[in-house]
Amino acid sequence: MKHFDLQSLVRPNIWALKPYSSARDEFTGDEGIFLDANENPFGRKNRYPDPHQRLLKKALSELRHIPVENIFIGNGSDEVIDLVYRIFCEPAHDRVILCPPTYGMYEVSANIHNVAVIRVPLTDDFELNIDEILSHDARCLFVCSPNNPSGNRLKNVERLLEEFRGIVVVDEAYIDFCDDKSFTELLPRYPNLILMQTFSKAWALASARVGIAYASAGIIALMDKTKPPYNVSAFNQEEALKALSKPAKHAYRVNLILQERALLEKELAQLPMVRRVYPSDANFLLVEVDDADKLYNHLVNRKVIVRNRSNMVRNCLRITVGTPEENRTLLEELRNSNLSISNHT
Ligand SMILES: *Cc1c(COP(=O)(O)O)cnc(C)c1O
Repeated sequence: MKHFDLQSLVRPNIWALKPYSSARDEFTGDEGIFLDANENPFGRKNRYPDPHQRLLKKALSELRHIPVENIFIGNGSDEVIDLVYRIFCEPAHDRVILCPPTYGMYEVSANIHNVAVIRVPLTDDFELNIDEILSHDARCLFVCSPNNPSGNRLKNVERLLEEFRGIVVVDEAYIDFCDDKSFTELLPRYPNLILMQTFSKAWALASARVGIAYASAGIIALMDKTKPPYNVSAFNQEEALKALSKPAKHAYRVNLILQERALLEKELAQLPMVRRVYPSDANFLLVEVDDADKLYNHLVNRKVIVRNRSNMVRNCLRITVGTPEENRTLLEELRNSNLSISNHT
């Protein structure tokens, strides 16, 4: 990174924004008679949550060895993505680079904010096209590693951090299922890096909607002042804290999913309608089959729901790794489908 000027990348209205100051910002102690926030004095869920999620950030900080001022907590990664556009992209003016096939929210959020998208597709083996990315001028670049829906970790992301002249968002939603280390170690070196993680996958808390961004203190401060004040409910903060307090449970589940992924990969590859199982660094497998639509419908009829991704990657299904029993049922239904489908043709 030669030279980085955060202000030059931030929308002027956001740079100048004076944030809403909540009652909980103006008085932060937790003892006293609270008559400052127009809360109802009765009940046990009557108080506004901590707008800065201090306990959760402290626990994450200890687990990941990242200072609290480099951590943002959002209402899912979706809120982090939304904030990246709000902070860095002037509607109808700025552009972002996406590398399809990838996570759909980057593009939906661009459309919501009226930000133009430059698409630089991944190569046939789902690697980044670095030179083409660097040939474009854009405010932000979104890369997802391990990537959804292809499942692989992306190579050469660090070269983008070195050379891309804008914000690089690296989405590590699936990093706990991958052998590679998280990019968290690189945060001090790259002031243009926003790292996203989530409680929705490896932490088994998708229902709670808790997403994480790690970035420079300057970027985190911009996210904090731009977000809605009480963006993460007290219940969701508590659930995330509870999950963090049980690291052994987390590790056990991740390991079991990894074992099952290996098993599924092997078994799927032996089925006659399966042409290819792409290697995965995530908790799902991208599987190319003879006829994805037909197989998808067959599975739905048998009450096994996978994701038909054939509009993104030809004849591909994306299959999440389930419990051992769920995976056995999936394999059984696929074996049966071969009989019924081949009998008809
Ligand atoms: C599932 C997923 C997320 C998680 O989003 P949340 O809003 O945190 O649930 C983020 N990025 C990618 C690529 C995903 O597949």
